[in-house]
Amino acid sequence: MIANTSEARAAYRNVWVVAEVLGGEIQKVTYELLGAARHLADTRESELWCVVAGHGVDSQIDTLFHGGADVAMVIDDPSFVNFVDEDQAAVLARLVRTHKPEIVLCGATTRGRALIPRVAVVANCGLTADCTGLTIDPETGDLLQTRPAFGGNIMATIRCSDHRPQMATVRPRVMNALEPDTTRTGRVIAEKLLPGEISGLKTVLELFQDVENPVNLSDARFIIAGGRGLKGPDGFKMLKALAERVNGAVGASRAAVDSGWVPYYHQVGQTGQTVQATVYFACGISGQIQHLVGMQSCDFIVAIDKNPDTPLMQLADVSIVGDLFEVIPQLIRELPKT
Ligand SMILES: Cc1cc2nc3c(=O)[nH]c(=O)nc-3n(C[C@H](O)[C@H](O)[C@H](O)COP(=O)(O)OP(=O)(O)OC[C@H]3O[C@@H](n4cnc5c(N)ncnc54)[C@H](O)[C@@H]3O)c2cc1C
Repeated sequence: MIANTSEARAAYRNVWVVAEVLGGEIQKVTYELLGAARHLADTRESELWCVVAGHGVDSQIDTLFHGGADVAMVIDDPSFVNFVDEDQAAVLARLVRTHKPEIVLCGATTRGRALIPRVAVVANCGLTADCTGLTIDPETGDLLQTRPAFGGNIMATIRCSDHRPQMATVRPRVMNALEPDTTRTGRVIAEKLLPGEISGLKTVLELFQDVENPVNLSDARFIIAGGRGLKGPDGFKMLKALAERVNGAVGASRAAVDSGWVPYYHQVGQTGQTVQATVYFACGISGQIQHLVGMQSCDFIVAIDKNPDTPLMQLADVSIVGDLFEVIPQLIRELPKT
């Protein structure tokens, strides 16, 4: 809604996180968003609400409080066993109209991307997708939404001064969940569906696992990623041997994927996957911003490159300057098998 005066903006209060529920389970991205949003709510001296549309999720509500929420607004209905974007958007838009949150955050997941733009259109406000940083301007209370722009060549900070609520999506594994505090409790607000709110235009017939993609980069503790420096598919055989040594998964830069050395589902980065491994090995990857945005929140980064001045070598916790084809076989020989 247009809120271009301080009085109009003052009518909007509290920070909302839209929970992602899949197969009856609240997904990890919800806790990551709560971690990011807790700080925003504290800065605004307001409450952190988590909005949950699902069915049979009662037993998980306490975990939202442990993860930082003050309020859980729950719409428990059998219609929400499966996700239908337009139905959830209709309910969420109505709740936004009624309760007037100041900020709404949603996961930049397949579901979040289908849901939240619909809500932003109805609420007549902006939406910043794929944020990598969120802070508050202390002067105005505006949400400062940082995200890669112009093909990832710059980081842009976007504000939405004249409309409320301020809406943003954040990719999974970009923000950190808080350490669960089991002593925290909160308030539950039970909401109901209104007659006619479920359109019935779409029905989910079946959900099935993507068996085409055997690589689980998102849960891997160790990722061994390769780039153009590997020179060809044989280089990736060497990486696979290193990955097997540490029980890790193989990642890749877009240059390696575009060259056809490994399939797309290995790609890490802006147009690939965002990962948060405990250890990320970058082998022959220079570290252009589009790659970095997908892996920079890994806990420990090891880069191997013959050029010590690449962005990734500068970012890494450990940089090994050398020829990959000498360093990697040596690592395979010397690393203990996990
Ligand atoms: C809109 C857009 C989206 C993009 N999305 C992504 C994305 O999701 N993910 C992504 O990765 N990229 C993405 N890119 C591409 C990105 O800009 C880079 O082009 C790409 O990441 C470069 O890949 P690289 O680091 O493997 O190759 P290069 O930049 O060519 O780096 C190769 C590195 O290997 C080193 N090397 C070469 N030989 C050896 C050797 N024998 N031993 C040791 N080191 C060696 C070189 O010194 C160099 O540092 C995107 C680009 C655009 C415009």
